[in-house]
Amino acid sequence: MSNFFEEQVLDVHHWTDRLFSFSTTRDPGCRFKSGQFVMLGLPGEGRPLLRAYSIASPHYADVLDFFSIKVPNGPLTSKLQQIRPGDRIVIGRKATGTLVIDNLKLGATLYLLATGTGLAPFMSTIRDPETFERFEKVVLVHGVRTVAELAYREKIEEELPQDEFLGEMISQQLIYYPTVTREEFRNRGRITHLITTGKLFSDIGLPGLDPVRDRVMMCGSPALLADMTPILEGMGFVEGNTGEPGDYVIEKAFAEK
Ligand SMILES: Cc1cc2nc3c(=O)[nH]c(=O)nc-3n(C[C@H](O)[C@H](O)[C@H](O)COP(=O)(O)OP(=O)(O)OC[C@H]3O[C@@H](n4cnc5c(N)ncnc54)[C@H](O)[C@@H]3O)c2cc1C
Repeated sequence: MSNFFEEQVLDVHHWTDRLFSFSTTRDPGCRFKSGQFVMLGLPGEGRPLLRAYSIASPHYADVLDFFSIKVPNGPLTSKLQQIRPGDRIVIGRKATGTLVIDNLKLGATLYLLATGTGLAPFMSTIRDPETFERFEKVVLVHGVRTVAELAYREKIEEELPQDEFLGEMISQQLIYYPTVTREEFRNRGRITHLITTGKLFSDIGLPGLDPVRDRVMMCGSPALLADMTPILEGMGFVEGNTGEPGDYVIEKAFAEK
């Protein structure tokens, strides 16, 4: 048996000249938990060049969604950004990753903190009803540089609250907090600053982070994770992982080379 599924591209959406998303068919044998990632590449001669990609669709969906950067001259994304419906993609059979709710202890509020394409795993988390069964409130914070980079904003703000299956949970339990650093927008500034100054909490009407009540998942640039981890640890949050649930879990949205 091959280590890969070969899937067909169904749809491609370009958000900006740096970001795009696409969906593919899903082999019935492809199993994953909401929030996990897989290795992904383009088929061709020899071994495909593979990169880690979070699956942005929830575990029960019959398609796979991905949200991607376009790295100028990037070995994979310079080609991947040219895919069209009908093209083929290879996807590793084994999904993995720490951003699954089973890796967190029970809590009342779940904070999902993402920068850039770090939103991808949380597009899966917020479309999984189990997230809303486990937590009373889910706060999704997405930090980007420009308003155009707030991918999926319309989906989160307008489509999901109307969804037949998820609408009630999303409307009542999800707080979406997009924030922009380099342009005018209703929320401005870096996630770290919004948390340390308390601005995030006064804006959303919730008390500041507390490990007794709150759980955190983070996916973003290595800089975000390096800045936020000591802040959380300083408040008494303990990192969780597979087999040992904790108060917070993290995953890099990409590796710095
Ligand atoms: C666990 C994990 C999950 C990931 N999930 C995703 C995902 O869902 N979507 C996605 O686009 N990428 C994701 N990545 C990054 C992805 O694996 C590749 O790095 C990316 O697709 C670029 O591939 P490349 O071959 O074109 O360039 P690479 O040679 O892989 O990257 C070149 C450089 O581009 C920058 N870079 C790479 N990816 C990003 C990014 N996502 N955002 C900002 N800068 C970046 C980094 O500085 C990197 O050193 C993930 C990485 C990890 C480790």
